[in-house]
Amino acid sequence: MRIIKASKIEGVKIVGSASEDEIHEKALEMIAWAKKRRNPTALGLAACQVGIFERFFVAKIKGTWGVFINPVYKPLSCRYLSTQMCIEECLSYRGEKYAVRRYVKIFAAASGYRTVLNGIDAIVFQHETDHCNGITIKMIGVRR
Ligand SMILES: [Zn+2]
Repeated sequence: MRIIKASKIEGVKIVGSASEDEIHEKALEMIAWAKKRRNPTALGLAACQVGIFERFFVAKIKGTWGVFINPVYKPLSCRYLSTQMCIEECLSYRGEKYAVRRYVKIFAAASGYRTVLNGIDAIVFQHETDHCNGITIKMIGVRR
């Protein structure tokens, strides 16, 4: 498994046709691969990054790796701070860092999954869901 060229995932429209069983099989390979990544350590990997044009990602959320199919999120209101600037890296842009504005607290949903996330979990979920929507940190962030 290898990361495909970043230009191939920017703005990509994904029309998935795989069954959930097929996705789970691919997701297990992606998780095994992502767990071995160092510098930077991978916290998530979207299918499109490895040439699988289905709308899902794998990520370590709340301390556990899982697969998130057809992910969506929406911001939840916070008393003092709704968004924050985050310095993010991406396996598709090795050695580059981007400042990206992210919601602090989100409602996150995917097939069979609904929860409230904040902190690093919210950042990872937004980053990977954006990949599924053809959006990368290079498109929405500022290079650092
Ligand atoms: Zn990424």
